[in-house]
Amino acid sequence: MRYSSLFSKATKTVPGDSESINARLLVQAGFVDQEMAGVYTWLPLGLAVLRNIEQIVREEMNALGANEIFMPSLQPKEYWDTTNRWEGVDVLFKLKSQTGKDYALGCTHEEVVTPLVKKFVQSYKDLPLATYQINTKFRDELRAKSGVLRGREFRMKDMYSFHTTQEDLSAFYQRTLKAYVQAYHRCGLQVKVVQASGGVFTQNLSHEFQALTDAGEDVLIACEKCDFGENSEIATHKAGEACPVCSSVLISTKGIEVGNIFDLGTKYSDAFELDFTNEEGKRQRVLMGCYGIGTSRLVGAIVEASHDEKGMIWPKSIAPALVHLVRIGVDDEAVTAADALYNDLRHAGFTVFYDDRDVSAGAKFADADLMGMPLRLTVSKRTVGESVVEWKERTSEEAKKVSIVEVIGAITEYART
Ligand code: ATP
Ligand code: MG
Repeated sequence: MRYSSLFSKATKTVPGDSESINARLLVQAGFVDQEMAGVYTWLPLGLAVLRNIEQIVREEMNALGANEIFMPSLQPKEYWDTTNRWEGVDVLFKLKSQTGKDYALGCTHEEVVTPLVKKFVQSYKDLPLATYQINTKFRDELRAKSGVLRGREFRMKDMYSFHTTQEDLSAFYQRTLKAYVQAYHRCGLQVKVVQASGGVFTQNLSHEFQALTDAGEDVLIACEKCDFGENSEIATHKAGEACPVCSSVLISTKGIEVGNIFDLGTKYSDAFELDFTNEEGKRQRVLMGCYGIGTSRLVGAIVEASHDEKGMIWPKSIAPALVHLVRIGVDDEAVTAADALYNDLRHAGFTVFYDDRDVSAGAKFADADLMGMPLRLTVSKRTVGESVVEWKERTSEEAKKVSIVEVIGAITEYART
């Protein structure tokens, strides 16, 4: 992508919602635009990050054998009455049609997926099954002030699984827990796995996935080393004690909830009478699990966990582009060499953001730091004269020279590590 063709530019202006680091950096870098509190447009570079994250999550869910679907956000009141959640969920957005009929805007999809699956499941032979979507959710949050961390309209991957036995549900739950840790790891984010209570409706098992940063709203007791964590409200351990898993030291820290999984038992299958016929021909309730990852919150959590005073620092796996190519000057030599490198890099399969604007080197470098692409390559009349490219990684202070003929090989190596 050429910067000159991008309508959403980076800006020095500090946005109104600058209490949170993720909002300030994402808006300044031109990754998102705030429409109103808790509601954002994803601009091309921000959308690229969101898509990269959602693709990683999709791959991990597919590897569990789950089917991807796409469910409606517009949902009839009757479904929410069936589960007693029309009045019970305070963040539910409610709409009235001109026909007088009431609808909810989906804040979660148990009310859609349970009757949906009921249409397809008759016998034990139809189970187990798992299905997921990556979709927009709506929640009437009272305080939406932490950038993309707490939206009123936001993105979530939600998966639902259906089983004949507790044993089967528990085994799938554990596989999903591992897949979640793997998904965050692939996104370059370390998380703690925190056992949580299942909420007011169920005593069943639940785990939260917490990213440790000061921007977090939750206070945790977590292990310095392994992924063990506990919510401080229910903690059975104290900071300073030994970790029950690996014996390292436990610390008190703040976390952002980037995912949550639940063993739902028969809560929703009772409400919708979702049954199956077992091997003896008897009707039996289906057992369910649900599993959420806040994909747009993840973008914000990664910014909170990975930035410096100059801007964002994207992990390679989810960066909008691997290479930020800076051309200095408008001399024919520089333009020809930079254009050629841009094409060569793309032909070699790398994603490149090419700053081809006619602005100062200082402004270009400041934008490159703010936007946080992993590798900055600079081409100028001088580098062309020396047959080199200047190579600077976002995580390093030093720049070095790499011979122009060796640069594709060097990037191939860099991308791999
Ligand atoms: P929180 O306690 O932060 O309000 P929650 O427990 O209500 O979140 P869940 O219903 O568990 O959220 O939703 C699954 C995931 O969706 C959460 O773990 C989080 O990553 C994400 N999420 C929830 N609410 C929001 C929101 N308002 N904006 C962005 N992401 C959200
Ligand atoms: Mg939760």
